[in-house]
Amino acid sequence: MTPAIYLVKGREKSLRRKHPWIFSRGIQRTEGDPQLGETIDVFAHNGQWLAKAAYSPHSQIRARVWSFEQETIDQTFFEKRLAQALLLRQDIIARDGLTGFRLVAAESDGLPGITIDKYQNFLVCQLLSAGAEYQKDVLVQALQSQFPDCHIYERSDVAVRKKEGLEERVGVLHGEMPPSSVVIEENDVKISVDIVGGHKTGFYLDQRDSRLQSMKYVNQKEVLNCFSYTGGFGLYALKGGAKRVINADVSQPALDTAKYNAQLNEFDIAKKRAVFLNADVFKLLREYRDQGTKFDVVIMDPPKFAESKNQLNGACRGYKDINMLAMQILKPGGTLLTYSCSGLMDQVLFQKIIADAAVDAQRSVKFIERFEQAADHPTDSAYPEGFYLKGFACKVL
Ligand code: SAH
Repeated sequence: MTPAIYLVKGREKSLRRKHPWIFSRGIQRTEGDPQLGETIDVFAHNGQWLAKAAYSPHSQIRARVWSFEQETIDQTFFEKRLAQALLLRQDIIARDGLTGFRLVAAESDGLPGITIDKYQNFLVCQLLSAGAEYQKDVLVQALQSQFPDCHIYERSDVAVRKKEGLEERVGVLHGEMPPSSVVIEENDVKISVDIVGGHKTGFYLDQRDSRLQSMKYVNQKEVLNCFSYTGGFGLYALKGGAKRVINADVSQPALDTAKYNAQLNEFDIAKKRAVFLNADVFKLLREYRDQGTKFDVVIMDPPKFAESKNQLNGACRGYKDINMLAMQILKPGGTLLTYSCSGLMDQVLFQKIIADAAVDAQRSVKFIERFEQAADHPTDSAYPEGFYLKGFACKVL
């Protein structure tokens, strides 16, 4: 018999709205002895069947729903979900000429804990939940049947796996080891991705739409691209006719790739039109401010500052600090393109932080455009947590 959980009265409400998480405090009793990641049936307190979910005994999120329908969680189930995810992205892939994109965005694609990015013929999986780990072999078989020409690599080297009682894992799941450079294209920009050694699964696909939208602000401008990683925004700035782009990051391998990317695209980077600076952005901004160095455009795309609610206050201070500094080094009428990928910080709070930064910088700031994560990172209406990346274009007077 399939193990089962029965919910506390009233706790079925969020499931009826198709939210996929079941917290430990919402469970009244457990039947059977479900193993780490095993599929269980979920019932309301009155015995009404609600969903099939994966059991996660070590996590506060005790179960994650695979399906709200009476179906077996097997290879066919995963094939269906994968086909649906690909279909959902088909027009975006064609529109933006993508050979690298997020194929599966976990909960937002009905596959909790499973992220899959596709770089050319390499599928890179990040499995974050006990259920995802439990289904790994079945998932790999489903991927092979849907994408017979693809190699499959795992990049589950993320600390949150601990909360699920899982070790970090990386390695080949099927086919060949990825080479150190897989070149993808988006919006006619070529980008080299290091699947094995890069951040996350190798690249920040989620900023693609914002990178494209940033192009209209850079023509003939002096641009400072903070937290550049492998050049992302900087490449679009070069394409958009920037006079000069300074890319700053603390990762030398990322900067080396950024430079290689500029060459790949045959952008003219002679005469220091593109600079790749190994620097701590927090220090660099203060140096520029103290020296009086000014820019027309500052791009601010820092790593996630808030991983949990108790880090949110500190994160707010961090965002305020760097945005204040960015405003201080902008010429009057300059453009600040600023982003936050901390899901815990919503758009309203982020706008308030920019407002606080404007007060401290003693500058007048006009919000002129808003940005979100790229279209291959959708948000399911039942799972608002899937919306995490937001940004603003601001004119700083
Ligand atoms: N804008 C990039 C993604 C940025 S990810 C893109 O579009 O692809 C965040 C980057 O910040 C990482 O490359 C990381 O190496 C860098 N980073 C983290 N802390 C930093 C610091 N204090 N100074 C400079 N770079 C930092």
